[in-house]
Amino acid sequence: MPTFDRELMTIDKVSRAHDIGNRQTLTEKSPDLVEGYWADSAHSDLPSPTSHSSFWDGKLAWLRQLVIVEFKIYPHGQHNPQKNVSADGVSEYCYFTYGDSSQCRICKQKNGKSEYQIKIGGAWYRWPDGLRHYFDAHNVIPSKQFYDLINSLSGNLNW
Ligand SMILES: [Zn+2]
Repeated sequence: MPTFDRELMTIDKVSRAHDIGNRQTLTEKSPDLVEGYWADSAHSDLPSPTSHSSFWDGKLAWLRQLVIVEFKIYPHGQHNPQKNVSADGVSEYCYFTYGDSSQCRICKQKNGKSEYQIKIGGAWYRWPDGLRHYFDAHNVIPSKQFYDLINSLSGNLNW
């Protein structure tokens, strides 16, 4: 179990796709909860990722759960909205692709230009597809809420 030091952020602190060059207007569905949007020159109020030299406890097992969740959402792009509602009609999810790539704040490589979105209990949770790189390559620790969210989603795939 990692030692968490951040909170999941809400939409009032980060607009949709602030750092991946979004040129499309989305319908706001407040409140959104977001993970993995980091500070840059235009958004200094956002957190910065903290790299660690070694794995945190349970990292690889948790990353497998994240991959399971992302691969379930991945086929449901913004161009197939009719497929985005789960069989029980409770959950909605979407893989949304934007215009420009993000850049890793730590190693500066290009790092994704899409976003995973899932609606649970009336709230949308969103995270960029480049977020996994921070956990994988730099041992960044997720927020406790995001850590728990992924465990919950991967533990019950009836959504
Ligand atoms: Zn990196």
